[in-house]
Amino acid sequence: MVNGQKIWTSNAQNSEWMFCLVRTEPDAPKHQGISYLLLRMDTPGIDARPMKQMNGDSSFNEVFFTDVRVPKNQIVGKRGDGWFVANTTLKHERGGLGDPNAAETRFRSIVELMKKETVNGDSLMDHPTYRDRLLKLQARMLSMKFNGMRIMSHAIREENPGLAGWIVKLQGCELNHQMASMAVDIMGELGILFEEGPYLRDGGIWQHMYMTDLGLIIGGGTAQIQKNIIGERALGLPKEPKQEQPA
Ligand SMILES: Cc1cc2nc3c(=O)[nH]c(=O)nc-3n(C[C@H](O)[C@H](O)[C@H](O)COP(=O)(O)OP(=O)(O)OC[C@H]3O[C@@H](n4cnc5c(N)ncnc54)[C@H](O)[C@@H]3O)c2cc1C
Repeated sequence: MVNGQKIWTSNAQNSEWMFCLVRTEPDAPKHQGISYLLLRMDTPGIDARPMKQMNGDSSFNEVFFTDVRVPKNQIVGKRGDGWFVANTTLKHERGGLGDPNAAETRFRSIVELMKKETVNGDSLMDHPTYRDRLLKLQARMLSMKFNGMRIMSHAIREENPGLAGWIVKLQGCELNHQMASMAVDIMGELGILFEEGPYLRDGGIWQHMYMTDLGLIIGGGTAQIQKNIIGERALGLPKEPKQEQPA
């Protein structure tokens, strides 16, 4: 039986299934003794409660589990091997969050926005400061695109992409946020408007993305944790000192 509570579960209120990592062997070492369970959301004892986010949405949930019974065949992998399964799932999640094609689409929208917006009657496209910022973002967007191609070449050859794979989440999510930030700046004071209003530009989507993307720098593993992983696993730097465990 599962008893407990977890927070930040995206879209739990609309889902038919969820996966959850639960500690099934409390005496096993930290990364062992965790099992990866699939749960139907209509199982008795599961209660998902949405929370308000700073982007105005309520897609996050706090999920409560009270005496939830789970059939054995809903364990993914072996009992106690959940950490291993979760790392595989995370690899896909992190790759998706930093998708370079989505970054390229976003970059093209910013180019269109810059052509449209003006300062003192001049197109922002001719403004040296904005142009410089745009080119820096373009360079990063293109490097992510070519990095994505490198990962694809490795996948075709069934090779591990190594560093090329580890950087996607960190670089992709930060780039997306910087692009949203630039779009907000391009629109000046009107860029910070959202919801309904006569002066709203592009339906307030850029402001919404700016807020949402801050969350995506955290979700799926924070930027700081990604840097630790890149340093330790991809670059072979010394490991971060660990806190001593109480005896
Ligand atoms: C948009 C979004 C969607 C999410 N969706 C889900 C979901 O569907 N399911 C789910 O289970 N969870 C979800 N989460 C939760 C998410 O996985 C966690 O918020 C995230 O992993 C960070 O963990 P934490 O909140 O416990 O932060 P903490 O681990 O408490 O970190 C707090 C701060 O300390 C820093 N920090 C912590 N440890 C170190 C270290 N060793 N070195 C340097 N800095 C460190 C972190 O980078 C961070 O800035 C989501 C979160 C967001 C924002």
